[in-house]
Amino acid sequence: MTESTTEDTKPTFRSDVTVELVKHSAADSDVLWAARVSTAGEQSLEEITKDPERSKGLINFLMRDRHGSPFEHNSMTFFINAPIFVFREFMRHRVGWSYNEESGRYRELQPVFYVPGKDRKLVQEGRPGKYVFVEGTDEQHETTSRAMEKSYRDAYAAYQEMLDAGVAREVARSVLPVGLFSSMYATCNARSLMHFLNLRTQHELSTVPSFPQREIEMVGELMEAEWAKLMPLTYAAFNKNGRVAP
Ligand SMILES: Cc1cc2nc3c(=O)[nH]c(=O)nc-3n(C[C@H](O)[C@H](O)[C@H](O)COP(=O)(O)OP(=O)(O)OC[C@H]3O[C@@H](n4cnc5c(N)ncnc54)[C@H](O)[C@@H]3O)c2cc1C
Repeated sequence: MTESTTEDTKPTFRSDVTVELVKHSAADSDVLWAARVSTAGEQSLEEITKDPERSKGLINFLMRDRHGSPFEHNSMTFFINAPIFVFREFMRHRVGWSYNEESGRYRELQPVFYVPGKDRKLVQEGRPGKYVFVEGTDEQHETTSRAMEKSYRDAYAAYQEMLDAGVAREVARSVLPVGLFSSMYATCNARSLMHFLNLRTQHELSTVPSFPQREIEMVGELMEAEWAKLMPLTYAAFNKNGRVAP
């Protein structure tokens, strides 16, 4: 038998995602310091922040002319809670990212499932590459919530049944859906984050628009808000130059 004690575990349903910046070493001065080795050789971090206008200009020049590597000398680690289908999309971002996700082999997965909130546009119109999403009716929201919750409850009951019968977690988890919440640490740098944000958020300043699924965009928006506070000059230059990663 496993150590399963899940009999009282009731599924819960969420329509939000969470992002916590757990660790960082990221500042605009890191970009300047890395860039100025090209022209000035080794410099102290204090030295390079003395002239704010010049700093702003240099960061903008690097962004505009796509000198990307100075934006890599920094690090941000996020703890993210989101449905598995978001992580499937997220982990396609291979370059400049490190991931560690909770294990469905080593721990019993908790019954927390995604149900779209009222503000999530439910109906897709148009053709591939030219979709727009429009509001769902109250009835469509009700149908969606009811169908998802029923399906999640059934799936989790089957998972528990197998655990209680002594089946290994890694086998029993097969029945759990991609709407199940998972958690992971994701570490990136400003350059890899900008590439992610260009592809996974929609923004009026974007000159190369993308059409991401709303749920990964929700994660992206929360990460963007944290990053903007850490590197305001870099963030401003990203927006000014069409939100394309250098
Ligand atoms: C709106 C949207 C819809 C999508 N739909 C689908 C889909 O239907 N099916 C699907 O499978 N995926 C889909 N994707 C995922 C997409 O194809 C990318 O895998 C994902 O966006 C990661 O982008 P990336 O490869 O540029 O990022 P990263 O893996 O982080 O790579 C960053 C950059 O490094 C370079 N690079 C990385 N690896 C290589 C390599 N092997 N060879 C050459 N250059 C490399 C490229 O310049 C790349 O842009 C979708 C993505 C978006 C945003």
